[in-house]
Amino acid sequence: MNFLELAETFAMMEKTTSRLELTDHLVSILKKTPTDIIDKLVYLIQGKLGPDYESSDLGIADKLIIKSLSLVSGHSPAYIQNKYSDIGDLGEVAYNILTNKIQTTLIHQLLTIEYLFETLLKIANTSGTGSLDVKLRFIVSLLNNSSNLEAKFIVKLILGNLRLGIANFTLLDAISLTFTGEKKNRRILERAYNVSSDLGKIALILSKGSIEDIQSISISLFIPIRPMLAERVSNPSEALEKINGDALAEFKIDGERIQIHKKGKKIELFTRSLENVTSNFPDILSALDEIETKDLIAEGEVVAIDPATKKYLPFQALMRRRRKYNIQQITLDYPVILNLFDLLYYNGLDKTHVPLSERRRLLEEIFSTQKTGDKIILIDQIKVSRIDEIENYTEKALKNGCEGIMVKNPNSQYRAGAREWAWMKLKKEYSGEVTDSVDLVIVGALHGKGRRVGKYGALLLATYDAERDVFCTICKVGTGFTDNVLIDITDKLNMHVIKHKHSRVESGNTKMDTWFEPKIVLEILSPEITLSPVYTTAINRIKSGYGLALRFPKFTGKIREDKSAEDATTVKDIFEIYRSQLK
Ligand code: ATP
Repeated sequence: MNFLELAETFAMMEKTTSRLELTDHLVSILKKTPTDIIDKLVYLIQGKLGPDYESSDLGIADKLIIKSLSLVSGHSPAYIQNKYSDIGDLGEVAYNILTNKIQTTLIHQLLTIEYLFETLLKIANTSGTGSLDVKLRFIVSLLNNSSNLEAKFIVKLILGNLRLGIANFTLLDAISLTFTGEKKNRRILERAYNVSSDLGKIALILSKGSIEDIQSISISLFIPIRPMLAERVSNPSEALEKINGDALAEFKIDGERIQIHKKGKKIELFTRSLENVTSNFPDILSALDEIETKDLIAEGEVVAIDPATKKYLPFQALMRRRRKYNIQQITLDYPVILNLFDLLYYNGLDKTHVPLSERRRLLEEIFSTQKTGDKIILIDQIKVSRIDEIENYTEKALKNGCEGIMVKNPNSQYRAGAREWAWMKLKKEYSGEVTDSVDLVIVGALHGKGRRVGKYGALLLATYDAERDVFCTICKVGTGFTDNVLIDITDKLNMHVIKHKHSRVESGNTKMDTWFEPKIVLEILSPEITLSPVYTTAINRIKSGYGLALRFPKFTGKIREDKSAEDATTVKDIFEIYRSQLK
């Protein structure tokens, strides 16, 4: 199948923000695609080269694309750089300068999706000395064999900025409609996606088989499962109301969630966003290596500790472990411990359907007989049934450096990818000592003034509206940034600058100097949510013409690298927090 067909679909999708129209375009291209390349097509639509957890990074900088475009078009690199500064997107530049190119190329073969995919994979897998030249040759050959429309999307795919605004659930709708004729099977596909993290594989299996084949997809070792998440509650009685009877309360530690996959000596570690971080934790690996089990998938929170006092340190200390070099030294400087809280798979059996209390019992059984030293412990847990028990336990958790507690239903199953009331997080909001934070996406910025010239000043932040798959503004934030962090954020943001407001951002009349693709998530504290005529979160829900805004927002210093834009705090969450404030 020719890539041109996909490029034409991309061009149509770029012109619409309607979910229904996007779904129609997706269904029509999926229907045209031969079965054996369905998975590749789905990955390309996602702007990836594989499933979420092992999509190769192409590692191509703008400079190499400028050089390639120069070689293919005959224009000088300076001319292309100028165009880039004007237009702000190298894909558009390619589209602009390669008009008519295809007629002037003497020998050209039609570019197929298979060939494009294989070549992109080769680009990703080329490393070492001389690799830049090899990558350049591959890119030039792709561009030489493409029309300007194809070139535009090849450049965007290579640079990782396809930005079509297709959420996973839109793609799931389209896959369900294409192969089963009905949207309602999306729920079944979603479950399979939550345990396999691979939309390409799901589309491939469904295109060749039936919905029963999808139902039988189960969790497997070394394929990360999308994590179960918690709802937020604002006081102990709300938590108890949601659970009929006894609950389990656990420390909520402010570290990084890790999913451990182990079979014999082979061990892999994944983050909440399914990134493989096995090499970052050699000390945890050695401790896990001591565990004598056939196999297991478990989850826990890794947290940095003060070597002298053994107290938990804040999240920022843990981020120092996110290094590619000098890992051994960093391991000594910033020791961590792993606090296990769940078991998903054990001795060849899926344990997600077993009640939480039983999963915990199994964890205790496994770890009571192992020599993991003090590197791996089970998370502190007690049974609670009364408000005062929860209050006392929260106090104990905070004294130990936790950010609050989790309250869990002992009878609940592990539901991959679901955020529901079986798990509730209770931070110290009600005591007045600590306010709960929210995670918001940066969608725009004003230029900095004074000391901040050349960096961004105020950042426009947004919540996620999961029902409509759009982002709604909630505040501008300018406090809580150290100079170094501001430089870091500015660098990160510069990779996501777009010409106009992003099509999935609803910002009313707010004017910004720069707009961004919604990508970077910041943790924000605010003492209060108020009504505002400026912002669009929950607009018209409480009062006509008014949305909700954060008062005195302050950045906590934590960039949520582990969260995608769609993992940001939702409009629904903010609405609930606002309502609980009024009680
Ligand atoms: P937050 O922003 O509050 O950290 P989140 O949006 O990242 O939350 P939630 O599902 O809302 O994710 O909160 C659960 C997170 O808290 C988990 O992903 C995990 O990283 C962390 N955590 C700490 N202690 C526990 C625990 N005992 N059980 C489950 N998760 C825990």
